[in-house]
Amino acid sequence: MRGGCVEKFARLWVAAIVLLLVAVPASVRAETFTAPPAFPSASVCHAAVTASETVKDIVLDRSRWSCDTPGTLADNAQQLLLRFDLRGSAIETPGLLINSHTYREIDQFARFQLSSISGQEVITDNWLSLSDLTPTSPVWKTRVVAPPVSGDLEAVVVRIDAPTSAGVIDRFELEDTAPAAMLANADQLIAAVLCGLLIAPALFGLGYFRVLRTSFPIYHSLYCLLAVVQVAALAGLLPLMMDISRTAQIIILHMSFDLIAATSTIFAASFIERDKINALSRRMLYGVATLAVMLGLMRVTFGLTVGMPIAVAYYAGYAVFLGGLAFALIHPLRCGSRATLFLVLSYLPLILIGTARVGLALLTEFEIRFHAVMLQHFALSWQVVVSALAVADRFMLIKRDRDSARTAAILMERASERDVLTGVYNRRIITERYERLRAQGFTSLALIDLDHFKAINDTFGHTAGDKVLCAVAKALEPDSETVVIRMGGEEFALLMRGRGAFDRAEHRRRMVPAAAKAALGNDHLLTASMGLVELQADAMPDADFAALYERADRLLYEAKNTGRDRTVSERVKVFRTRKSVNRRERRVAA
Ligand code: GH3
Ligand code: MG
Ligand code: MG
Repeated sequence: MRGGCVEKFARLWVAAIVLLLVAVPASVRAETFTAPPAFPSASVCHAAVTASETVKDIVLDRSRWSCDTPGTLADNAQQLLLRFDLRGSAIETPGLLINSHTYREIDQFARFQLSSISGQEVITDNWLSLSDLTPTSPVWKTRVVAPPVSGDLEAVVVRIDAPTSAGVIDRFELEDTAPAAMLANADQLIAAVLCGLLIAPALFGLGYFRVLRTSFPIYHSLYCLLAVVQVAALAGLLPLMMDISRTAQIIILHMSFDLIAATSTIFAASFIERDKINALSRRMLYGVATLAVMLGLMRVTFGLTVGMPIAVAYYAGYAVFLGGLAFALIHPLRCGSRATLFLVLSYLPLILIGTARVGLALLTEFEIRFHAVMLQHFALSWQVVVSALAVADRFMLIKRDRDSARTAAILMERASERDVLTGVYNRRIITERYERLRAQGFTSLALIDLDHFKAINDTFGHTAGDKVLCAVAKALEPDSETVVIRMGGEEFALLMRGRGAFDRAEHRRRMVPAAAKAALGNDHLLTASMGLVELQADAMPDADFAALYERADRLLYEAKNTGRDRTVSERVKVFRTRKSVNRRERRVAA
């Protein structure tokens, strides 16, 4: 009896253990099938759906979702849902940042729709397409805010219509679109500073043009301004400054780059020294400039719709551009063009970036994206700054040439104004400048003729005569109120302004004998006769120098005829009214 009880107990134990061994795995298996694990926090999961299914249906059915990276899209995927989990995230205002830049992505989907999920609540926005959105920084990104929900936000779901490849998933990134997070970033601040710096050479260019009146500073200004636009557009500064559509922004971004390429080569064509560039190089520069404009127009006209084939044509076109530019610069470099050296130095970083970009784009089928925004900013700034230095350098060279030419012209002109023997002004200057001198108050004219000068030549020789003429010219003492002119032979004129013209002229005439004695080194007395006309400012308003001279000459003749060594003068208040003329006559004291 006792043995049967033990046996019964042992059987029960075995049954219990067997039951345990069978039941536990069975229950675990059952749980795996009925309740899939919850979405991991901060996960990004996707689900292929049909157009008739609602977001709510799919969101609540965890089994429809995969959180792995998909290699290819399911064939039946009319639409694709992307679920961005927000639990435990610090994001205040969730939204999506959408990459809309590269050509490959242009036709990756038709439109999209955002939903916010909170427990059982699903709030869905309208369908949007990329052209409805304003791009932000960087420029090929657009962003959209998720619709608000009342409860705690769990996830944001984007529904993508007609996706063409699994790559579309990479185009959507979750981000905080709260105003504080949307402020200009450090890159944009740097770009803004660069824009400010690049405006300065543009203004200098206008200044250089004003002075030099040649075209290259204008082209340089133009390309500096385009560089400002390009940096601003590439950094996404335009939407911060103005209300601008995505299409307009992309057109400005693309076109400003192509126009920089065009204007910088036109600038090169006009900047390289004329004697250092041949017709072929010049034509090549204009050719590549035209090519850049055409490529730009092609890209903004068809690039946004046609996509890849246009992109390939665009980059292939730029390969030709780079080749043409390099070819055009070879000849001027060989001729030792200083301007071309500057240009090559300025182009170098941008050409390297451009070559890398064209190469990567054409050889790697756009799989590698090489945006290098900051690099491009600095390369462009380098190009502008170095070319601005080149322009300044050329400005200095041209200005130096012009200044020395002007100085030579001034010296020549001065030489032609002077009497070769005595160094005082000659007759030409006084007839040419009388109007101006008269306006400055030079209204009195004294004619001084040396008495019996022929006798000096005859007695002491022509050289001694020359010496005397020089000494007399010096004794006549030109100053700011007295212009001394040798009218010819041994006749001098004093054109005077200011008070006391008679006394000042008379004083000079009386200096003649002493000057002659000193020059001759003996006691020979050489006197001078003088005819002086003092005009009051309003007298003879229309009289030219010839009229004044004629009057003074008549007085001089009178002085000669009345015994020489004297002055006959007139003060004229109103020309032709004899009554108003005061006459004086003086002999030099022995
Ligand atoms: P008058 O008192 O009437 O003026 O007599 P004059 O001898 O001074 O006048 P005239 O016109 O008969 O002679 C002027 C002389 O001046 C004649 C010429 O030999 C001399 N003469 C003119 N130019 C020069 C010059 O450059 N150098 C020298 N040494 N003599 C000159
Ligand atoms: Mg004489
Ligand atoms: Mg004479």
